Amino acid sequence: MALELNHFIGGKMVKGGSGRFSDVYNPSTGEVSARAPLASKAEMEAAIASSEAAFQIWSNTSVVKRSRVMFKFLELLTKHRDQLGELLAMEHGKILSDAIGDVQRGIDVVEFACGIPHFMKGEFSNNVSSNIDMYSMRKPLGVCAGITPFNFPAMVPMWMFAVSIACGNSFILKPSEKDPSVPLRLGELMLEAGAPDGVLNVVNGDKEAVDTILNDPRIQAVSFVGSTPIARYIYATATANGKRCQAMGGAKNHMIIMPDADLDQVTDALIGSAYGSAGERCMAISVAIGVGGVGEEVIKMLKPRVEALTIGPSLDTESEMGPLVTSEHRDRVRGYVDMGVEEGADLVVDGRDFTCNKQGYEGGYYFGGCLFDKVTAEMTSYKEEIFGPVLQMIHTDSFDEAIALPNNHQFGNGTSIFTRDGDAARQFADQVEVGMVGINVPIPVPLAFHTFGGWKESAFGDINQHGEAGVRFYTKVKTVTSRWPKGIRAGAEFVIPTLND
Ligand code: NAD
Repeated sequence: MALELNHFIGGKMVKGGSGRFSDVYNPSTGEVSARAPLASKAEMEAAIASSEAAFQIWSNTSVVKRSRVMFKFLELLTKHRDQLGELLAMEHGKILSDAIGDVQRGIDVVEFACGIPHFMKGEFSNNVSSNIDMYSMRKPLGVCAGITPFNFPAMVPMWMFAVSIACGNSFILKPSEKDPSVPLRLGELMLEAGAPDGVLNVVNGDKEAVDTILNDPRIQAVSFVGSTPIARYIYATATANGKRCQAMGGAKNHMIIMPDADLDQVTDALIGSAYGSAGERCMAISVAIGVGGVGEEVIKMLKPRVEALTIGPSLDTESEMGPLVTSEHRDRVRGYVDMGVEEGADLVVDGRDFTCNKQGYEGGYYFGGCLFDKVTAEMTSYKEEIFGPVLQMIHTDSFDEAIALPNNHQFGNGTSIFTRDGDAARQFADQVEVGMVGINVPIPVPLAFHTFGGWKESAFGDINQHGEAGVRFYTKVKTVTSRWPKGIRAGAEFVIPTLND
């Protein structure tokens, strides 16, 4: 019998009551490992009520105390990091070291959130006019919610709730139904760290739970990370209902390889960034652009490396790449590879028929690394996100033709250039229409004290995740103009104050 998971509401694990469940798989074996309950509207509404009550307590807790809770949470996460990584690897399928990295990148955001007293400081102007001072303060919003994807079940939830809770909000996390066990553990660890009951509620669910979040007037702000069609829907619905919303979507990330690049470095960078986590990263490089003929040499260098990838169970220390998350997703990735072949691209390495022969793992959702050469911008398999271990090579004659590709693409999440030429690197960073840029760095994910966010169809809303932008997203500013005491006797004023002296 598969383990029945719960919701984490009001400081307790709560059994699902809707009668609806979603199977959680171990993608390395293909077996169902657990069942996640899918919350009904009424269950989500009860969680919102619990978060609303928690907000009254938490928003009146001093910012220093809130910071100390985050410090304790940091300590607990560090203590449990490897166990969380193991749990994550078993449900997601990414290899253990990468899964621990997922937890660690979430820990980085908690470290940032520990410094919240500094970021909550307002501004003060003394004597803006006779006896008048003016100051501003940052206030939390109330109940905030986060809806997260399967591919970073530790990091992405912590991008959101660590900053939001440190700011004084209560938070409802609706994690991906594909790998909810780590998010549920994070709820327990926040409680153990000293956050009052209901400050972090973790509610499993599907569209019904999400639509309740989007339509309930008690939710003040919604953060979303996932695919573009859902991001667009979330942003349109949340903002139509008067909520703040930041909604990150899909990606197609290009790496430009200039003729002067160090090709050993390029090959290593492409192997890690295209095939790491089986390509299920929103910052994975999925398109390489060889400028001035250099792409032919790169294909020659990549081919044996892609063929030699060690693909196997996520907890096997020899594996360099684990399985894809579900069999449906594997079918989807295979469909794009078939499409690329039909569209006329040259499939240099074909991983479609890869199977894992290890005993007990034959039913896992494995898919071999695929490498396409001679891809063109007209192909649908280029225009759309594949989200699997598939790298596409495009050849261009010039830098201008190369930069036009990411600039004209619907997505604009991450991109990178490999070159020894400072002029080309600087021009690229300045002119590329993409939110996050690497120079000789293949996966330029900003650290927690900077902000994360793409452009174009990769993000809806105008405020990024974490860093100071995160604090701005989860707080509202109040500005006070204060006059003591002489002006109080001045009598009525019928014109707008202009503060001349
Ligand atoms: P997804 O869009 O299928 O699901 C994301 C979340 O939305 C999940 O919690 C899911 O339960 C919920 N959801 C799904 N369908 C819904 C619907 N019809 N109505 C309401 N809610 C719904 O995404 P995924 O497959 O979990 O994640 C992969 C995608 O996320 C990729 O496109 C990837 O590029 C993207 N991603 C983007 C970033 C970024 O920062 N830009 C980061 C990570 C992942």
